Amino acid sequence: MGKSTAMSSSASNPTESWPWPPAMRASAAWHVAAIGAGVLVPGALPWAIGAIVLNHALITGAGLTPRSSLLGPNVTRLPEAAAARREVAITIDDGPEPEVTPRVLDLLDARGQRATFFCIAERVLKHPELAREIVARGHSIQNHTAQHRHNFSFLGPRGFVKEIARAQDILTEVTGQRPTCFRAPAGLRNPFLEPVLHRLGLSLVSWTRRGFDTREGDPAKVMARLSRNLQARDILLLHDGNAARTAEGKPVLLEVLPLLLERLRADGLRAVTLPEGLKP
Ligand SMILES: [Zn+2]
Repeated sequence: MGKSTAMSSSASNPTESWPWPPAMRASAAWHVAAIGAGVLVPGALPWAIGAIVLNHALITGAGLTPRSSLLGPNVTRLPEAAAARREVAITIDDGPEPEVTPRVLDLLDARGQRATFFCIAERVLKHPELAREIVARGHSIQNHTAQHRHNFSFLGPRGFVKEIARAQDILTEVTGQRPTCFRAPAGLRNPFLEPVLHRLGLSLVSWTRRGFDTREGDPAKVMARLSRNLQARDILLLHDGNAARTAEGKPVLLEVLPLLLERLRADGLRAVTLPEGLKP
């Protein structure tokens, strides 16, 4: 913490002073060695090309693995201190969604539990009152990009700055609170993301388990995925925006959340916002 969060969206050089993760430095060294061998050692060129292709496959694989920390720090669980506090974090993505979010807030309030909403900033611009209500009722709004672009993981440093810094500005302006956590659309990313997050003072947060509730409309199946080995420190991923529908046409989150909150109560667990749960 204590990092500057005052970066503007017009920052001209997002690649300046990159704190490259060790895996990326190893990758750069690997390229230099492979190219050197390919050029200098007779017959080594096919091997050198193969080595570079393999390296790129590994990096791409890491970017396609939302819980991987190969590309930089990635929070997949709350810190150890949260275990003693019996805390879990419920995170709800892709809203705010006027059909769903107000009912989610009522369900949480009825149980006295808190959640973190990874909002899409352009949706917040469409529903600013709803965003302010989320915060006023004690929950947290964090950064899930400006537009939730489907090609997000193919962007470069400038594209990342545009999507993420713009969301920071919108969310701060509307809610009065500057996000400290970021989640990539579908959790997908590439090596250019971490330096941008670092400069914006954002921590990448993924999850311990997810319900796949944008595709799965059966509340029992979503609940089973979320609650397998449920324990303190877990970060659970659900969706109010883009929610799959049950057989009765209801957003599946509205059926799952009461089951989940009951399970937390039975297990003596407390749902807190990420800023609270991440406290050491
Ligand atoms: Zn999303």
